[in-house]
Amino acid sequence: MTCRTVTILGATGSVGQSTLDLIGRDADRYEVLALTAHNNVDALARAAIFHQAKLAIVTDESCYGALKEALAGSGVEAAAGREALTAGAALGADWTMSAIVGCAGLAPTLAAIRQGRTVALANKESLVSAGSLMMDAVARSGATLLPVDSEHNAIFQCLAGGRIEDVSRITLTASGGPFRTFSLEEMRQVTPAQAVRHPNWSMGAKISVDSATMMNKGLELIEAYHLFPVGLERLHILVHPQSVIHSMVEFRDRSTIAQLGSPDMRIPVASALAWPERMETPCRPLDLAAIGRLDFELPDVDRFPALRLARAAVEAGGAAPIVLNAANEVAVAAFLAGQIGFLEIAMIVEDVIARKAYDAPHAIEDVWAIDETARRDAVKVAEEMAV
Ligand code: NDP
Repeated sequence: MTCRTVTILGATGSVGQSTLDLIGRDADRYEVLALTAHNNVDALARAAIFHQAKLAIVTDESCYGALKEALAGSGVEAAAGREALTAGAALGADWTMSAIVGCAGLAPTLAAIRQGRTVALANKESLVSAGSLMMDAVARSGATLLPVDSEHNAIFQCLAGGRIEDVSRITLTASGGPFRTFSLEEMRQVTPAQAVRHPNWSMGAKISVDSATMMNKGLELIEAYHLFPVGLERLHILVHPQSVIHSMVEFRDRSTIAQLGSPDMRIPVASALAWPERMETPCRPLDLAAIGRLDFELPDVDRFPALRLARAAVEAGGAAPIVLNAANEVAVAAFLAGQIGFLEIAMIVEDVIARKAYDAPHAIEDVWAIDETARRDAVKVAEEMAV
């Protein structure tokens, strides 16, 4: 493999750090162009200096001075603000990791896609909110979009050598999260600290809460709908608590191909980083004899209504997935701040979706406008629910 330029959007997060870990193990093969964060100046500056990045960007403009100071004498340039983020994403790196959390990742991800190079996509919220527009941008620019979410990366691997028109079913597996066996009454009492403690995966706070409500699987269903055009009726969700099978593809001859591995995000990140080759990782090899058994069960949409809401949103199409995502981001933030209870997250999403009818988005500006209105509505609903 020749030396490639890389940019990491969301370099200080869980996926960003996994990516840097892998890059650092084979540093001669990568030249880091830009690393970005929201306001975690220390971690960003440390990573930028260690990996000899050309540019470090914080989106929170009030952090610019601190970043500049932290980078003084290092040769790494500092920048701040949302426009700087989008410009950094458009530098034309050979390989860009899109790992910002939330819809905030949409503009820079689109900017990277428009360069026509390779974009590894972890930021599922951007695809949920602007799926068709984003896939159009991929087709127009000729970019290669590699899914990083472990389920979609698994499906991508299962499809290698197969034809999408021969797929009869795609099964996204779900761990069921930390409250898989909880009653509704028990879920009513759970705290943010319990919700961010995922049984199998180590992840950022927002996606951990999404896993606990299973909204994560709902967002992934929408993500899969855009990435793998087999039709919604062919997309299924199966709870598999051990998180060993990351997803499966069944072909029309009834052959099912699954991808398995230890639950470590560095495996799908490595698959996207080395694609179409393979690279070594420090991850634990899969020991099926030690694991002993694999369990499966159907998801319970009564206890996890987010699954029902996400499927309904993708069926409705138009603005519905944008509203679902925006309301969920606000509700999760309110839950993490201790303002609302756990069960209220899905209630807020449902309420905000039911409040208004929006026109379908035709351009990215429409997505921003719908996202902003839905966020305002969600804040209002969350305030009404707060005790
Ligand atoms: P983290 O919360 O750990 O990290 C988020 C990153 O985004 C940080 O670098 C953060 O910067 C940055 N960021 C936060 N808010 C903004 C903003 N408004 N503008 C610009 N940058 C911002 O998230 P994860 O790494 O867990 O997840 C990232 C994405 O990947 C999410 O979309 C998630 O759903 C997806 N994903 C994550 C997986 C995981 O295992 N963690 C697995 C599969 C998908 P700062 O540190 O300064 O706040």
